Amino acid sequence: MRITDIREIAVPLQSTLRNAVFDFSEMTTSVVAVATDVVRDGKPVVGFAFNSTGRYACGAQMRDRLIPRIMKAAPESLLNAAGDNFDPEKILACMMQREKPGGHTERSVPVGTIEVAVWDAVAKIEQRPLYAVLADRFGTGQVPTRIPCYVGGGWYAPGKGIAQLQDEIRQRLDEGYTTMKIKVGGAPIAEDLDRLDAALQVLGGSEHLAVDANAGFDAERARLYAKALARYNLRWFEEPTDPAGFALLAEIAAMYPAPIATGENLFSTQDIENLVTFGGLRPKRDILQIDVPQSYGIVQFSRTLRMLEGRGWSRQSIFPHGGNLMTLAIVAGFGLGGCEAYPGVFGVFAGFADDAKVEKGLLTLSDRPGIGFEGQNALYELMRKIIPAVTR
Ligand code: MG
Repeated sequence: MRITDIREIAVPLQSTLRNAVFDFSEMTTSVVAVATDVVRDGKPVVGFAFNSTGRYACGAQMRDRLIPRIMKAAPESLLNAAGDNFDPEKILACMMQREKPGGHTERSVPVGTIEVAVWDAVAKIEQRPLYAVLADRFGTGQVPTRIPCYVGGGWYAPGKGIAQLQDEIRQRLDEGYTTMKIKVGGAPIAEDLDRLDAALQVLGGSEHLAVDANAGFDAERARLYAKALARYNLRWFEEPTDPAGFALLAEIAAMYPAPIATGENLFSTQDIENLVTFGGLRPKRDILQIDVPQSYGIVQFSRTLRMLEGRGWSRQSIFPHGGNLMTLAIVAGFGLGGCEAYPGVFGVFAGFADDAKVEKGLLTLSDRPGIGFEGQNALYELMRKIIPAVTR
């Protein structure tokens, strides 16, 4: 058995949103297909993934060196010990040949996206959902049928005032979510605090509201918001500072009593280890938001998790970035705290299976094999269309 082809294509997200720092008008993502000669249900198995949200397409690194390394490797060197499936750990090691240590983001996203597509193929070959495969390999073997899921929103938009924000939150509550995250920092602080008060009126309790500053604050503004937000006791305060500015983050973490969330913009085990060592974060209080496909993928995430557990962090404190099916499978398989959702926000890349239900803030899992993109019709149609050679 062997990998017969790997294709990448850049697709625009077609989002008109703006957070505190930037707009998404140029945002793209890389969609990857890993084709194999393994046949299930009469068709060759193809694994799919995309590079989550918020990092641009990265096909050059894939095409120039990562894909050629995999295609040049002896096929049996990429298989598990039994020889009956691919071994993502070996494929990760194959991609990492001749890569200089450090400088992670240049390759962590392309490597992770291909690695997650390999896992989709591995689970499809086993004819099981990816979360079940991950639960056996990295979790307890037990998988809940429903996963805690909060919804992100509260973006800034021209003409969007308090009334529109409250309408947005009411709509999400009607859809079954109970916890909402809204953006802060894109308006003067007085206006942001009015938005917060208005959001709390609809949500009914501060444990149901998180805020996200998208790492956009300088030191002075981070301190200002930390002081002003402290009295709200919110679910969390996300990315008050640049996540790699450990000294400032530690200062903010010491002056802000409620949970801080960060980590979606750090891409290696070492960076996360530095974050929890020098960033002032506390295992029982704070939240880590590693984006797995952007951080070398699932095998490397298992190593990050081992490091974190050795430092007193629990899986329940991890809410990975990326409101998509890949993240859902990872949360369910590893038994993490929960996942985020951005329904309708990032075009076909947002959200979960078309038949997924949210009730009381819990999302139902599907039992489709692999990641389950086949249940998210618009996205799967796009994946099939752009890579016709491998999905015939
Ligand atoms: Mg965020």
